Amino acid sequence: MSRETTARPAQTGGATRWSDAPSRDALQLIAEGVTKVAGFGIAAISVVRSDGKLEVMAVAGSDEAGESLQGRRTPIDQLSRELDKADDWGLFRFVPHERLDPGVFEQWGWVPDIEPIDAPDAWHPLDLLTAPLYDDEGVLRGTLAIDLPADGRRPGEAQRAVLNTYAEQARQAVIVALEREALADQVRMAETARRIVRRAAAQLRMDRIVEDSREALVEGFSAHGMWLQTFDQDGRGTIYSAAGGASELDPEMVEIAQAAAHRAWDAQEPVVVAPGRRPFGPAIDRHQGQVIQAFMEEIGAGSLLFTPLGAGPECLGNLVLTRLEGAPDWTEAEATAALDIGHDLGRAILNARTFEREHQLVEELQALDSYKGQLIATVAHELKNPLTSVMGHLEMLESSPDFSGTTRSSLHAMDRGARRMVRVIDDLLLLSKVGDAENPLIPVPVDLYRIVEEVVDLITVAATQKGVAVQVEKPVEPVVAAGDATELDRVCANLVSNAVKYTPDGGAVTVSLGRDGDEVLLTVTDEGIGISEQDVARLGTEFFRSSNPEAVAQPGTGLGLAIVSRVVARHHGRMEIESTLGAGSTFRVFLPAG
Ligand code: ADP
Repeated sequence: MSRETTARPAQTGGATRWSDAPSRDALQLIAEGVTKVAGFGIAAISVVRSDGKLEVMAVAGSDEAGESLQGRRTPIDQLSRELDKADDWGLFRFVPHERLDPGVFEQWGWVPDIEPIDAPDAWHPLDLLTAPLYDDEGVLRGTLAIDLPADGRRPGEAQRAVLNTYAEQARQAVIVALEREALADQVRMAETARRIVRRAAAQLRMDRIVEDSREALVEGFSAHGMWLQTFDQDGRGTIYSAAGGASELDPEMVEIAQAAAHRAWDAQEPVVVAPGRRPFGPAIDRHQGQVIQAFMEEIGAGSLLFTPLGAGPECLGNLVLTRLEGAPDWTEAEATAALDIGHDLGRAILNARTFEREHQLVEELQALDSYKGQLIATVAHELKNPLTSVMGHLEMLESSPDFSGTTRSSLHAMDRGARRMVRVIDDLLLLSKVGDAENPLIPVPVDLYRIVEEVVDLITVAATQKGVAVQVEKPVEPVVAAGDATELDRVCANLVSNAVKYTPDGGAVTVSLGRDGDEVLLTVTDEGIGISEQDVARLGTEFFRSSNPEAVAQPGTGLGLAIVSRVVARHHGRMEIESTLGAGSTFRVFLPAG
């Protein structure tokens, strides 16, 4: 056989979907025409599939043959081998049964159950009459096979001419059907790509989005190459390539692409650049088109689909998909799907930008916070040294016999003041220490009951003087937290001293310990002035003191609970506050058990 019988590779891989019912109907009509007009009992039209097999798509004439043949797939090679022995009847090829290998034929054909008539030109059940259907480029796209002539004879000249017209019709119908199918496939694939890109676009980082959509875009659009450029606020941008990661592109091309993207977004029109396809459309002028074509030649791309990315009126990037020479044209439906993807990715770029901005803001705030911490620590240090010297001198003066009366009481007052300053400075130093990310916690088992006992011991005198009873509920079993003993001591001390400080004469403070699953729990309950709901929400902020005048009347700095909440946080614990104004408060601190 002279003509080539290789199948044109379909773009969809091996899968077969003949969803296009009108195409199948057209083939059926032609097959029926052959049986009704051309005087043959059976006609079958097959199409070439991407896996190199012929699939029977339409059978007319016999239900039995229809059932047996419909959907049957046979390798093209097998047919080619048989057709090599054929007589050339115009579009048809005839292989008389004498030349046919009957074993092979039975495998892929259908053998009618007839007795040949007694004549020299009698039709034999194993005779093979098939028209291989080629496209204009000489590629085999299908076959029209006929069998069972009504008169029981091999067709003569006149009948062959009629058969040829049907073969031509079948040829055109098969080509149209395959093209339609390919188009439907292209649309389906582009839509699948869009779904995948949409899902990927839910992520916040652009590199992740591109990473997760890359394959879907390349496969869904049967593309060979891909670039995706996102524009930054400052006009520059990042270019991602099909191979993944950010990549470099010729600056002139980048500039053309940026300008074209804006115009294409305004017009809401993707652009196809292919050899011989002019003009390029409103987005690309002649010169730019030529530069792009030269670039395409350089990288071996046959055509490209250029899609702007954007959201609302703003163009935010572009997507370039390339195909090799000889690959199918970009269809209208693909361009539309690409533009839809341009909208999805546009929104994703905006989200990614917002995320990036927030991320930056958080980093700036963190930097500010760490600067504040450093400032506090430095100032506290600088104050502490002279203050220690002041206190030393005050102590010396107080022990001097030269002073008496008002001078001595002034010295006492100065000493009290200096001691308070030392406490504030110590709190500031501790606050910056427990808030410093570079000072990590090294947890060890800490017996909380011992800490509670020590804290309560220290405060009992002051509490008793004030008329506040402090009770400790001894736990049945040891309560051990994983943490830093000094820091947890401060947590306990601050909570208990607040409870005593903000509880009026006659009230009681209770401290208890317990275990709660993987956590241990320290509870400090008082019958004090309570805290309003708004104030509870702000507790733990440095220097925050309640607006309640009864609370303000007590001396304080607003650093105690700030220290508590930072220590608790760095222990991966949590604090719960329950309070009723005028009735009392309960502070619960949960810490990981040691
Ligand atoms: P302060 O040095 O002012 O006591 P804290 O940080 O320890 O600072 O507490 C912040 C504010 O929370 C206090 O000014 C007070 O208004 C309120 N507060 C803390 N503990 C209690 C409590 N047990 N009862 C009532 N109010 C409290």
